Amino acid sequence: MSAAASNGFEPVIGLEVHAQLLTRTKQFCSCPTSFGAEPNTNVCPVCLGLPGALPVLNAEAVSMAVRTALALHCTIRERSIFARKNYFYPDLPKGYQISQFDLPFSEHGWLEIPDPASPEGTRRVGITRVHLEEDAGKNLHGVVLAEGRSVVDLNRAGTPLIEIVGEPELRSAADAVAYLKQLRDILVALGVNDGNLEEGSFRCDVNISVRPRGSSVLGTRVEIKNVNSFRHVQRAIEFETARLAAVVEAGERFGQHTRQWNDTEGSTVFLREKEGSDDYRYFPDPDLPPLVLESAWVEARRRELPELPADRRARLCSALKLSPYDAEVLTGHPRIAEFFDGVLATRPEDPVWAKRAANFVMTEVLADTRTHGLQASFPATPAQISAILELVDAGTLSGKQAKELYARVRGTPDDPASVAAAAGMVQMSDTALLEELCRKILESNPKQVAAYRGGKSGTLGFFVGHVMKETKGSANPAIVNELLRKLLAT
Ligand code: ADP
Ligand code: MG
Ligand code: ZN
Repeated sequence: MSAAASNGFEPVIGLEVHAQLLTRTKQFCSCPTSFGAEPNTNVCPVCLGLPGALPVLNAEAVSMAVRTALALHCTIRERSIFARKNYFYPDLPKGYQISQFDLPFSEHGWLEIPDPASPEGTRRVGITRVHLEEDAGKNLHGVVLAEGRSVVDLNRAGTPLIEIVGEPELRSAADAVAYLKQLRDILVALGVNDGNLEEGSFRCDVNISVRPRGSSVLGTRVEIKNVNSFRHVQRAIEFETARLAAVVEAGERFGQHTRQWNDTEGSTVFLREKEGSDDYRYFPDPDLPPLVLESAWVEARRRELPELPADRRARLCSALKLSPYDAEVLTGHPRIAEFFDGVLATRPEDPVWAKRAANFVMTEVLADTRTHGLQASFPATPAQISAILELVDAGTLSGKQAKELYARVRGTPDDPASVAAAAGMVQMSDTALLEELCRKILESNPKQVAAYRGGKSGTLGFFVGHVMKETKGSANPAIVNELLRKLLAT
């Protein structure tokens, strides 16, 4: 399919995201949500759907869901209803999923994605609704028991989910990936989800249609189910845009349907006709009372919200003058953001300190930082890093020595100042000694001296480099620069 096929058309994309809430227990029973247990060991009459077992709503899940909706600027409905979504599938023993349908607990929100075309640099994308539901079980094929055997594992059945439905306001694959990244960062910052697309705790369905550029009517959409990485989302949208454009251009008619992304083939395939909401026979679950969220309680949840990634980035860029790129890297993971705040802690409002800290954390610390889900392991503590940077600030250490000191301190609980003192690491700031060295270097490089005096001011770096080499990086560069300028001017 040629790229030209999509030229006259633009894609319209809306994403549905299902995120597992990091509660200790399931949505409507007290079974643990822990991952990786033997099949069918984390189950009880409620999540097995045995007759007569009654669901009881998990308060922790409600609290996490409400915090998420508030962070996404949604309006909270005071009285919402749980509904039964009826369908048959082996991993759904009750024959229905408890979800929310016409009265979800929240709606009308938005989040911001980067948009270079807008003067603010960002653009709002609408969130239609956030609602609570439960996960289904999982069919395992040939991986447990024995080759060729299949198992319905209900450990995941009843795990709390939130579904976040986005408005069809995304206009490109890049928009969709940006939206997903923002959403994932927000959920992870709230601590409600581990943001893991590959392991399926953050799952995305891509809805996409195409229309002639400039048109304002929506075309018929197809839904691509469970696309499980940012790269797959990007590729699936690019492929599907071109495919739909060719289909529409050829005048072929098609109905709403569900497709699947095949990453090996690099294409989507037809899965099934789209089921309409009528097919699910939604009705209010008679076992669950309405969910009532009093405004005082909701406001208390709002006060619990942490600083969100977008606000953190804004603080780093405007108050601390860091570049958008640095801010992005330093807020991309909540533990990294906390670590960086820890380094800033002694001088939280000093842009010079912030820049120095950002450079050091990004080039040194992050190189050996490992993140997994919500966890991260760091090679040093924020206090050790700020102690190293204090030595640079005081002129005791050069930048190069700071890196050496970090290499010695890394992975130990040692205090950087003591390690530096014990190793005799001090920056050379003895002006008389440095002047003598500078003179010697100028004397042995007459050609370069003549070139400098003839107007080639770039030669200064050559001399500085020599001094640094002679002193094994310990010379104070500011003093060396000043001395060389003075000596070369005479
Ligand atoms: P369903 O569960 O039936 O898929 P939802 O209302 O939960 O329905 O989700 C619909 C999703 O499809 C939303 O994310 C919405 O933005 C998107 N969508 C709706 N119409 C279109 C369209 N014409 N083109 C692209 N996306 C669309
Ligand atoms: Mg859908
Ligand atoms: Zn259970």
